[in-house]
Amino acid sequence: MPPDCPASFGGDWLSPTDPSYASAISRWAKNAERRAAVVSCPRTPEDVAATIKCARAHGLPLAVRGGGHSTAGASSSAGGVVIDLSVYMRHVRVDTDAKLAYVGGGAVWKDVDEEGMKYGLATVGGTVNHTGVGGLVLGGGFGHLSGEYGFAVDNLHAATIVTASGETVRASAEDNPDLFWAIRGSGCNFGVVTEFQLRMHRQRRTVFAGVVVYPGTVEVLEKVMQVVEGWWRASPERESIIQFLTLGPDGKPACVLALFWNGSEEEGRVHFKPFFDLGPVMDTCTEIPYEQLNGLQNAQVPHGQHYYMKGAFVSAPAFRSASPILSYITSNLDTWKELGVTPTLAFEYIPLGKTMSVPLDTTAYMRAPVVSTLCMMAWRDDDEAERKLEKVRAIANVLVQTLVESDAGVDKGTNTGYGNYLSEEVAADDVTAAVTGEKEKADKSLALFGKHYPRLREIKRKWDPELVWNKWYVVLPATA
Ligand SMILES: Cc1cc2nc3c(=O)[nH]c(=O)nc-3n(C[C@H](O)[C@H](O)[C@H](O)COP(=O)(O)OP(=O)(O)OC[C@H]3O[C@@H](n4cnc5c(N)ncnc54)[C@H](O)[C@@H]3O)c2cc1C
Repeated sequence: MPPDCPASFGGDWLSPTDPSYASAISRWAKNAERRAAVVSCPRTPEDVAATIKCARAHGLPLAVRGGGHSTAGASSSAGGVVIDLSVYMRHVRVDTDAKLAYVGGGAVWKDVDEEGMKYGLATVGGTVNHTGVGGLVLGGGFGHLSGEYGFAVDNLHAATIVTASGETVRASAEDNPDLFWAIRGSGCNFGVVTEFQLRMHRQRRTVFAGVVVYPGTVEVLEKVMQVVEGWWRASPERESIIQFLTLGPDGKPACVLALFWNGSEEEGRVHFKPFFDLGPVMDTCTEIPYEQLNGLQNAQVPHGQHYYMKGAFVSAPAFRSASPILSYITSNLDTWKELGVTPTLAFEYIPLGKTMSVPLDTTAYMRAPVVSTLCMMAWRDDDEAERKLEKVRAIANVLVQTLVESDAGVDKGTNTGYGNYLSEEVAADDVTAAVTGEKEKADKSLALFGKHYPRLREIKRKWDPELVWNKWYVVLPATA
């Protein structure tokens, strides 16, 4: 029996018999859906606190849903209580004098980009604008503006958090600075953020962006990588490139570069001239309103498919890393066809000057001079879901291993990839899994948080000693 709605609760309390329940447990990735006992859609921090107390009183696990993009099920709960912030907590209010955006814990980046640009202001956010502010910021966060303004956590001014005890607190440089340090990079380990205060920056109305597509052959890739490597060495802060090795609509391997220049088309065509000179088979780059920038990739990653994600870091763009991946994609065309899977390896070339310009322990997020890569497998068909997931997981592991082996610059033992690309092997489905898998989980968290892990454990002991928040790379409380 699902627990009854707390008397003071003012939001929606959805049990499995409710008509809205099916959509409430659905996620961007179909395979991340779990059957919760109750989905709570709070309107206020007090509603969040009432939900936490109710779940804890009934001994039920808790999960928090922001934008719902975790493929690992980190915002879902099998048999537990989900706090879904996406229904009533999506507000964005901009204070133009203070250059701050007050953003609800369930907002997505489209909400922020559109509201900000009403005032010519923007901040570092996701490159796919239906992803959530909540998960992205708490896990570190990078985007097209990172070359100019650092990680999303570097632009977090303050947050309102409901903690495991049900207390609502403010975290900022002045208020609860330990908590403020911890939430900037440790995911959902410290509570429910009902509001983020994000620093905004003056942003020109239009930017130059789009994709150039090259045939997916090793010969072409070698030339593309030479140009990318030269561009990376120059590290231009107002630019970014995301490279995709994937299959085109014709089912053939393709090398796609998403280019971004924070300026006009005229300037952008000059800045990226070497890429255009290579003669792409397709060029969609053009000058667009800024608020459309992070929507350009949306069509490639629609809601409601099956997705598997796994990340890894490489030290820099390199042909030696990219070419084995392209070869693997090319030599397994029959497998992709049989499984109905589209494989993609994304290399996210975000210039490092700004992100690496502050002391390494500024935030819990472990900054390093590396490039984030993401292996993503996508498929539509619901048939044989388990078999496909198993196969896809094995393939992704091979691809990521290949990448990691190709790069001597990143320590293999601790190469977890970006924390926000956590795979389902890492996320715990319930408290028992987090606790019984303690040793293994702790090893993975130690690899991700590195020398920040002991400090995080101390802060965890203060704010969540009973491990209520355990769905991400779990931080185990320090023992006395
Ligand atoms: C298509 C796609 C594109 C992406 N692009 C980028 C990118 O450009 N840059 C980047 O940095 N990352 C990117 N990511 C990774 C992204 O940051 C993570 O998937 C992130 O977890 C998404 O957050 P969410 O709120 O949508 O997810 P959810 O599944 O809702 O949440 C993920 C985790 O965050 C927690 N959480 C969410 N909101 C809150 C909150 N308000 N309070 C407390 N905990 C909360 C959840 O409990 C869960 O543990 C991308 C992911 C996808 C799928």
